[in-house]
Amino acid sequence: MSAADVPNLVDGRETPAASGDWLDKHRPGDGTLLCRLARSGAEDVEQAVAAAHRAQAAWARETPVARGDLVREIALRLRERRDELSDLVAQETGKSPSLTRGETDAAIEMGLFVAGEGRRSYGRTTTASVPHRAVSSIRVPVGVAGLLLSFNTPLPNIAWKAFPAVFCGNAAVVKPSEEVPASALAFARIAHECGLPPGVLNVVQGLGSEAGAALVAHPDVDLVSFTGSAATGRDVNEVAARRLAKVCLELGGKNPLVVCDDADLDNAVRWAAASAFSNAGQRCAAASRILVFDAVYDRFRDRFADATRALTVGSTDEHFLGPVISRRSRERILDAIAAAVLDGARIVAGGSAAAGEGFGVLPTILEDVPRDAPLSCDELFGPVTTLDRVRDLDEAIEVANDSPYGLTAAIHTASVHRAMRFAEEVQAGVVVVNGGTHGSEPHMGFGGVKQSGTGWREAGVEALDVYTEWKYVNLVTDPAQT
Ligand code: NAD
Repeated sequence: MSAADVPNLVDGRETPAASGDWLDKHRPGDGTLLCRLARSGAEDVEQAVAAAHRAQAAWARETPVARGDLVREIALRLRERRDELSDLVAQETGKSPSLTRGETDAAIEMGLFVAGEGRRSYGRTTTASVPHRAVSSIRVPVGVAGLLLSFNTPLPNIAWKAFPAVFCGNAAVVKPSEEVPASALAFARIAHECGLPPGVLNVVQGLGSEAGAALVAHPDVDLVSFTGSAATGRDVNEVAARRLAKVCLELGGKNPLVVCDDADLDNAVRWAAASAFSNAGQRCAAASRILVFDAVYDRFRDRFADATRALTVGSTDEHFLGPVISRRSRERILDAIAAAVLDGARIVAGGSAAAGEGFGVLPTILEDVPRDAPLSCDELFGPVTTLDRVRDLDEAIEVANDSPYGLTAAIHTASVHRAMRFAEEVQAGVVVVNGGTHGSEPHMGFGGVKQSGTGWREAGVEALDVYTEWKYVNLVTDPAQT
């Protein structure tokens, strides 16, 4: 192994894949080789799941307060190493240092929030129909958790799953995205430095179709928590369902942002640009459909186009958005734009690769895209959005809901009535009024309806429901009386 190799971390030890094979990872910022990651397979997954299985029972016997205290230590150590970790993520993703520092902070905050649950993780007491019987509910861990991650915000993604999973007394095997292996390893190394027992948090690197599929299929994985695309999520769900494992899927979105005729247009333009193009549109909560009332459509389009053309692509703090994650991703996005144009769509802004060596795509606005066209229906996960003209709120809600997805939605309006009606009727897990479609925080539950997930919510206290089971304890307090 060379210093630039990113191994697995199994049972507290760093090891190459059993096959000895490696995969190349390139820097999105300039296309050069960043590192090699272990190309793991079923044998590596077997070892990691076995290590997790061995470690879990003892870890679960620690008190929630002790587990929370250790989670806090890890979060504080992440804070100490904030700059180093942020630089690593910047290399892996091509994002600017200020963006990756913000992401590291978000991961730290998630740890601090989860740590607090050590002294707050409440159950319930309830009544019984017979005397001398005390009934209460307690949370118990699920067992071994397989955590499969998307690449888009590497440290928050691992923090959102690993912190609640281990806090709740599970042992975990993480399969990071093959695009961001080093930040996941760095997170797990820090957890071990802070005293997390070997086997409680394991990392298996590699491809989804190899390491990921083996993890999902493993009979000793009691819980599969997956963040990624709906297409992969469907396969994951099918495989895990065969053994009736608990499955939490956090999937994609085709999130609408509605601009009404009474909206503050400057604010709407600002949030539309941030929601559609920040993080190069690689957000599950990106605004990839912008629905604008007819009465303000032309004015909004012109201002939004100007604002979009002013956004620059690059990896320093002067740039608004970075490149997309890989050459393949860039080609996929450019092909989708070209196909839409062939079908009659009009490019309002962007539409091509950004200048330079990296995998940048210019922030792109398209109009005249039919509502049943792939670009209107399928998640692209890039800096591309469509503009769609709607008559009024009725049509806006109808179009917003005419999607297989239902993750987030936003409306820009001065009317409380319109805002509340939209919030009630739009099919989404998160609704924002006069802001962006993105921007969740660690204490807020997050997740979607329809094909955006399977009904679970991550972050917030809701995350505890993913990583624990409820157990109801009946105590007969005076057997002689019953
Ligand atoms: P992806 O589905 O390609 O991959 C996600 C993870 O699954 C990766 O680690 C990958 O290696 C693994 N994987 C791939 N095939 C697999 C298989 N057959 N079995 C098991 N694992 C497999 O997604 P991505 O490109 O990494 O991420 C983008 C997607 O993630 C978008 O759809 C985005 O909306 C979604 N996402 C959702 C949320 C959310 O909270 N809802 C958050 C971030 C990203």
